[in-house]
Amino acid sequence: MSAGSLLIHPADPAASPPSLTALAGLLDELGLIGEPLPAQPAAYRVGPGFLRHVTFLGCSPHLVLDPPEDGGDAFSHVAVLGPYASPHLIVGHNTQAPRCRTCRAPFADWRAEALAWMSHPDSAVATCPACEARQAPVALDWRETAAVGRVFVDVRNVFPGEGVPGDELLDRLKRLTGGPWRYAWVHRRG
Ligand SMILES: [Zn+2]
Repeated sequence: MSAGSLLIHPADPAASPPSLTALAGLLDELGLIGEPLPAQPAAYRVGPGFLRHVTFLGCSPHLVLDPPEDGGDAFSHVAVLGPYASPHLIVGHNTQAPRCRTCRAPFADWRAEALAWMSHPDSAVATCPACEARQAPVALDWRETAAVGRVFVDVRNVFPGEGVPGDELLDRLKRLTGGPWRYAWVHRRG
């Protein structure tokens, strides 16, 4: 089972995404990514700048940077998800109830609607249980336990809260797309 992902994405979920070529080119220039991994599309071994651009908190004793010989995926690697034609919502079992942008109330029962929300994250209607404001799921405040957007840099095998993107990486992504980027940790069931 994977430890989870650090997902880095444009702060505006509707923002026009960069092309895969432009984004992968930047990640390669920064040394975040290295050689492509053969088994999956747009997935890469970590590059020489990986530990400069992703800061691991604590001692991270399990950090494995090379693919294990048994072929498993329990090692740090980076994938690009998207770009997609419309925003995606990525949640995991660590995801906490999102909050209403109007009154800050949590959507305590959100998991009952999660499948519908993930199918249509920018057109489904999430009605606030407290103030009844109607919002699209992508517009809710997911804080740092779910990711929304049209493109994601997926740093895999990161436990929630364990690793964060560095300032230079976030700044270069911002310059690439003309808007700020943010991040979340999502621990999907393995
Ligand atoms: Zn509300």
